[in-house]
Amino acid sequence: MLAAVYAGSLAAETRYDIDLADAASGLLHIEMETRCEAGGCELQMPVWNATYQVRDFVQFVEDFRVSDHANHIVSTRKLIPSRWRVNTVDPGLVRVRYDVRANRPGPFGAYAGKDYVSLNLAQVLVYPVSRRRAPFSLRFRNEPRGWRTALALESHGGRFRAASYDELIDTPVLLGDFDDTKFTYSGRPIRIVAHGGRGSYDIAELADKARTIVETASAIMDDVPFPSYLFVYHFNEGPGGGMEYRNGTSIQIPPSCTACDPKSLTAHEFFHAWNVKRIRPQSLEPIDFTQPNSTPSLWFAEGVTSAYAQYILLKGGLTGESRFLDHFAKLITRYERTPAGRLQSVEEASVEAWLERYPDYRRPDRSVSYYLSGEIVGHLLDLTIRHYSGNRRSLDDVMRALNEQYAKRGRYYEAEAIERLASNAAGRDLSTEFDEWIRTPGPFEWDRYLEYAGYRLEMKLREKVDLGLSLRRAANDRAEVASVEPGGLAARAGFLPGDQLLALDSEPLRVPAKKVADLLGRSSGPFTVEVKRESGRRSLAVKPLMGDTIVYRIVDARAVSPLQRAVRRGWLKRTVIEDAVGAAPSARAR
Ligand SMILES: [Zn+2]
Repeated sequence: MLAAVYAGSLAAETRYDIDLADAASGLLHIEMETRCEAGGCELQMPVWNATYQVRDFVQFVEDFRVSDHANHIVSTRKLIPSRWRVNTVDPGLVRVRYDVRANRPGPFGAYAGKDYVSLNLAQVLVYPVSRRRAPFSLRFRNEPRGWRTALALESHGGRFRAASYDELIDTPVLLGDFDDTKFTYSGRPIRIVAHGGRGSYDIAELADKARTIVETASAIMDDVPFPSYLFVYHFNEGPGGGMEYRNGTSIQIPPSCTACDPKSLTAHEFFHAWNVKRIRPQSLEPIDFTQPNSTPSLWFAEGVTSAYAQYILLKGGLTGESRFLDHFAKLITRYERTPAGRLQSVEEASVEAWLERYPDYRRPDRSVSYYLSGEIVGHLLDLTIRHYSGNRRSLDDVMRALNEQYAKRGRYYEAEAIERLASNAAGRDLSTEFDEWIRTPGPFEWDRYLEYAGYRLEMKLREKVDLGLSLRRAANDRAEVASVEPGGLAARAGFLPGDQLLALDSEPLRVPAKKVADLLGRSSGPFTVEVKRESGRRSLAVKPLMGDTIVYRIVDARAVSPLQRAVRRGWLKRTVIEDAVGAAPSARAR
């Protein structure tokens, strides 16, 4: 009986073999065994996953061929660039073989090399459209001797299994000779693997911080939703960042990027185990692998996740209160320097996320990042709920309610749910606030919300302009752009990461990177910088505006009431109190 059931499920299963024989030269050989219905079936390569950007993964697919159970070639026809029609007559097994050019290191792409293989499986695996919700399995073949495997999936006899295609691709993948450690939290194995940049990380320290983050976030959510969790760290050069999966994350920290902070990336990606992976907007489901799923909720899914990264670090003792306040003040400074904050609402920025591939859209006078505005709104929400509830409730109550009412019941939330649950937590209707925060363009009334916690915003004029760019020393000793702050002066002038700085106002720049940063910061009027990038030399005109010399700080309000003190304590200590403090909040309502 058991055997019969097992054989039945095997017959229905779509099986992949990923052959690593030519991994060293960047090529993966994929074989998929599946079943076609009478009259044929369709195969699809996702055009996107997780990053809210269409990336047309079919561009990496080569030498695509299909055969039947007797190994006879079956003809196929392309319907759209990412979809094939397989022209079988009878129902039965088909074998699909193709190669994938895996040359994109980092958490978002697929990379195969002589030292390691790291995969975003959506970029590698074509799926049979009619069987997307049936079981799938995956096996690797011809791994170099001594390599290990890290995936957040169950494996039986070397095969990783999942109940659907969406589940199969929902895992980081790393194969190689990497550092590997683990600990247990609440009975769940938590695994940490890291590789690259020898000497640029300490696996024990990574595990230590990961443990604090796992414990703190789980305590905030009063929940441990995963059976196990996998942290994959890449310490390679390339774009820094992280990608979230249901039971794991893949994080890249380039050794030359001094501004990249492993612990805030870790906290952000880990909190996604709730927000977006389980607490998920209906608008993202089912995922449409042929085109964008537009959603008004990315400010919550991404921006509020960034606010939680700060809360986790603060509560876990991985950052201090003054650094937390400095971070929030920097968000405000960045927002105030982005003119599009006055033109584009937070919800619009979420829906338009898919346009971020276009440089013209990314101009700071056209769009404002939903990461930035969403993180700000997260803080305003927390302060507002604490204010109206006398610090008896907070944004944590909204998160836990979303978790209980939606995630744990296998439901996705509708966009209105956030406002409804936030109003419940505050004990009053917050539609006016939500109108102001997410449905109309800025500005935000900073002082109104900071005052809830007994703070106010202070504006400071700096002598030097803040370029909003970090530099590093390139191999040829030139100063090279490491990162560009969105919306900053350098972003407006068109600097890109990787640009090598050749000259300042026609004077050659042949000094150490640190001195170059100093030189650039000293100019208060317009100047030009000549840069070298892959496409050739460019002359970039830097035109500082008044705003580039303005920085904001959060300082104490003149008088602080007991209610303000309670809200401040709650915001910074991440606690609530059982009894109301001070006057009834409604008496102070504004
Ligand atoms: Zn994220």
